Amino acid sequence: MDIIVLRPDATDDNISVIVKKLDSWGLKANISKGTERTIIGVIGDTSQVSEEEEDALKAMEWVENVLRILKPYKLASREFKKTNTEIKVGNHVIGGNRIHVMAGPCAVESRQGLLEIARKVKECGATFLRAGAFKPRTSPYSFQGLGEEGLKYLAEARQETGLFIVTEIMDARDIDVIVKYTDIIQIGARNMQNFRLLLEVGSAKKPVLLKRGLSSTIKEWLMSAEYIMSRGNHEVMFCERGIRTFETATRNTLDLSSVPLLKKLSHLPVVVDPSHGVGKWDLVTPMAMAAVAAGADALLIEVHTNPEEALSDGEQSLRPDYFKKLMDSIKPIAKAIGREI
Ligand code: PEP
Ligand code: MN
Repeated sequence: MDIIVLRPDATDDNISVIVKKLDSWGLKANISKGTERTIIGVIGDTSQVSEEEEDALKAMEWVENVLRILKPYKLASREFKKTNTEIKVGNHVIGGNRIHVMAGPCAVESRQGLLEIARKVKECGATFLRAGAFKPRTSPYSFQGLGEEGLKYLAEARQETGLFIVTEIMDARDIDVIVKYTDIIQIGARNMQNFRLLLEVGSAKKPVLLKRGLSSTIKEWLMSAEYIMSRGNHEVMFCERGIRTFETATRNTLDLSSVPLLKKLSHLPVVVDPSHGVGKWDLVTPMAMAAVAAGADALLIEVHTNPEEALSDGEQSLRPDYFKKLMDSIKPIAKAIGREI
């Protein structure tokens, strides 16, 4: 077996009985205490455990289920959980019938600029404000973000507009300050396999938006979600943002096949970021429409009131009037597949 699911009323003594048993079989336990129940991930060669031994575990009154999952990702797999995971943020649900739009500038650049963009995206129907205060820039000489000052502006925009906040963490040392201000923690593409950072957000009590690595396979991506979940945080959503291919006409190649594929392999919500996926503002709306048609649970769209002056990603940012057009274009598609925006 690979996963032991305990009943909600299992005690620490109950858990240690199982840990000792696993130890006697040469196996280790990874205990993850969620808000509802405790799950024990079994580490080691579980094929050695006989059916009788497994039955003995199942017979314990505080054990709800013992599962053998053949995939290397366990908690993230559809086999582990058949129903779609719904992540609640305030009064919103990500992974339910409603498709959410997370929008905002690539980076928080100034208080006034952020508030202006926040008001616009709210007016157009976005439910989350997405902007970075800690930016992963290719060059150390480029604008790196405003840090905590930027987070404070995000908090102010949240207060004024009621939009919930999504912002990126780049370093495990920033976890406390990020958690203080954000509603959803973003793990950027460059950190998808920063395993220490994944474990850190796995211990946080905030949903995590996990972007796909620049050249990551679906399996590697699922394993990164598993890292987060293995620490007890099961509120993980994937975010497809394009991958590197031989093509250079677009910034990345937006792999929309990952949406239905992830839905098949996993129960976690899937977000699509066409802005980084294509890198050109005029291609964002058609790909946003395609993402909705493919089954995305949310979109992440970069919006700027003055893209020419943006300190990062101006060429892929939509002006508010074009963002409004994007919102108008995706609504009929959502309706056609029985969803709402
Ligand atoms: C971003 O969201 O602004 C960003 C840096 O994206 P990614 O990590 O996908 O490159
Ligand atoms: Mn960006």
